Amino acid sequence: MKKLLILLISSVLMIACKSGNGSKKDAGTEKPVITVTIEPLRYFTEAIAGDEYTVVSMVPKGSSPETYDPTPQQLVELAKSKAYFRIGHIGFERVWADRLADNAPHLQFFELSRGIELIFDTPHQHVHSSAPESNYQEEEMHHTDEADGERPLLGVEPHIWNSPTNAQIIAGNILNALCLMNKQNESVYLERYNTLCRKLERTDSLICNMLSTPNADRAFMIYHPALSYFARDYDLYQIPIEAGGKEPSPAQLKELINTCKEENVHVIFVQPEFDRRNADLIAKQTGTTVVPINPLSYDWEDEMLKVARALSGEKTTEE
Ligand SMILES: [Zn+2]
Repeated sequence: MKKLLILLISSVLMIACKSGNGSKKDAGTEKPVITVTIEPLRYFTEAIAGDEYTVVSMVPKGSSPETYDPTPQQLVELAKSKAYFRIGHIGFERVWADRLADNAPHLQFFELSRGIELIFDTPHQHVHSSAPESNYQEEEMHHTDEADGERPLLGVEPHIWNSPTNAQIIAGNILNALCLMNKQNESVYLERYNTLCRKLERTDSLICNMLSTPNADRAFMIYHPALSYFARDYDLYQIPIEAGGKEPSPAQLKELINTCKEENVHVIFVQPEFDRRNADLIAKQTGTTVVPINPLSYDWEDEMLKVARALSGEKTTEE
């Protein structure tokens, strides 16, 4: 399996080299590229890098970063990137990005989750029902065998970016990476980093304010547990509907309906990558509100505030 993947990537890269100068010409105005895994990382990176780089995210809208497979075209583009900024614990990154390092030796990899206090959820089964489960686990096993210095940890809760506290650490890691890549611009990066941090602090205090209102919820339900770090930051109880990456069984659904009432849940968050039927079903039985959110959005601040606003008891519009 592994050999096959490497072969595939090598041949894709070979095609890329052959056709590289004929495919897309931008009259010499092409900026160097930094590739990131998901849109929120593009937001943080652009905030500090300005327009010095074109920042590209690997996982497109509507796809899940745990199970995404890049297209051959994306692999070609990635080989042209100067650097890859990754969280370091997302399924897609484990399966693909590290392996790419063997095939694109010039690519600098930076771990944006460095220094973050990680949450471990064991047993970790971050697999979607539609995904080839056995494959994923096989990849993960292979991966831990590799002695590549930055050994990925199994069972890490991967949704690290959904937390203003973590976002500041991510921003710091981006700052360091950019300075390593271009020392001359250090002062400009630092200035932008400070601006971003003030914004992140403001978001944090807005969330704190909303969650400290007397009617604010202390527990919430969510289809896919993307708000683990958010819940830790603000002392909230996250109740996932998904069970081990799969749809809940009828018995589990029944239990969730009970939990919903016991924990005084008013809000069920759903994400665009996942079917919301189960959430709707629970909502119908319990009188709770289903609130669509997108933690993979470029508009990271808006999404964080949307979550807090829904929990604050303020009226939210259902889509
Ligand atoms: Zn996820």
